[in-house]
Amino acid sequence: MIGIIGAMQIEIDGLRAMLDTPTSCTISGIEYTSGSLHGVDVVMAVCGIGKVFAAICAQTMMLSYPVEAVINTGVAGTLSPNIGIQDIAIASDLVQHDMDTSAIGDPPGLLSGINVIHLPCQPKLVSLAEEIAAELGFHTETGTIASGDQFVHTDGEKERIRTAFGGIAAEMEGGSIAQVCYVNQVPCVVIRAISDDASGNSPADYSQFAAKAAERSIQLVSQLVRRY
Ligand code: SAH
Repeated sequence: MIGIIGAMQIEIDGLRAMLDTPTSCTISGIEYTSGSLHGVDVVMAVCGIGKVFAAICAQTMMLSYPVEAVINTGVAGTLSPNIGIQDIAIASDLVQHDMDTSAIGDPPGLLSGINVIHLPCQPKLVSLAEEIAAELGFHTETGTIASGDQFVHTDGEKERIRTAFGGIAAEMEGGSIAQVCYVNQVPCVVIRAISDDASGNSPADYSQFAAKAAERSIQLVSQLVRRY
């Protein structure tokens, strides 16, 4: 079974509408809907905004369903000159840009305990996502996606994240889902369509483009499930 997580309704509703024989169950306030998508067993959920809700959702999903891979779909702000609004960021790996114990000598972003900064995505899922995006005519970049509990909206913050981690896009959940996948040894991939420039224009861009961008990510994920 493939698990699919989005932070917001706009990131999941389009996929939920494609499900055959949907069955729902609510745990800790998050609704999980399982069913068949293009003949493949899936479970999907809207986790809510930020790293804590995303972790609650990913871990609960794995404990409650026989999940063999997790896809996080949604929108993000671009950190890269190579991808703009409506383009697609595919994560090769994820970082948590707000995890910072550097004051006591650790490198920025270090997840103490597991001693990892860059949480990997499964190469097979990454290359399949790239292949399908190309077939759909989507412009993509693959690289590090940076997650943190903040909506990135200044050049300074963009630069900080790019310099520290080489990030191509900023969002608020992927790095947390990837950490849950890492400790449970479940493969994952994070796919985000760009909704904004993560800079001065981002609040306006986001309200104008988020819904359309979320649909593009859904289109890609739907085909990814079909071909997995
Ligand atoms: N109160 C709003 C909050 C949305 S936050 C709501 O509930 O709808 C923005 C969402 O889009 C997050 O899930 C995040 O992952 C993503 N996102 C898009 N652009 C972003 C940016 N510039 N910085 C951080 N996250 C961004």
